[in-house]
Amino acid sequence: MSQLIQIQKNNLPISFDCQTCGACCSFFARKEGIIDADTEVKEDIDLSYFVDEEIKFQWPDGDVETIHHEGFVMRTKALNGWPACIALTGEVGVKVSCSVYNTRPTPCRTFEVGSAACLYVRKWAGIDLEQIA
Ligand code: SF4
Ligand code: SF4
Repeated sequence: MSQLIQIQKNNLPISFDCQTCGACCSFFARKEGIIDADTEVKEDIDLSYFVDEEIKFQWPDGDVETIHHEGFVMRTKALNGWPACIALTGEVGVKVSCSVYNTRPTPCRTFEVGSAACLYVRKWAGIDLEQIA
């Protein structure tokens, strides 16, 4: 998750408030271990674990990617019916927060709010831009 930003669409500003979203923290948790954690999570080493395996990852449009993954990944859980990173709290699309925000893995830091991937996972989660204040 990232911060609140504004972009322009049809010359109108659109806000992206990650704290009312969490779609990325859910989407990438659909397959156990898909969330890269560059190192083990320092606050609680049980939140992540090491893998060295081929992971099949299916995008919502049906495309399947096979990724060789070697490194730490976040554990996952169910959160109010959504798949979620184990560090995610709250409710996807309503109010969420990351319990390890200050030391969250690099992919979480570099996932760009307002990017095509952000829009893609928001659409997957059914979170409209209109829902964003
Ligand atoms: S999907 Fe985009 S808006 Fe939603 S939490 Fe992730 S980066 Fe933020
Ligand atoms: S570590 Fe935090 S920001 Fe990263 S996927 Fe998990 S809940 Fe989201």
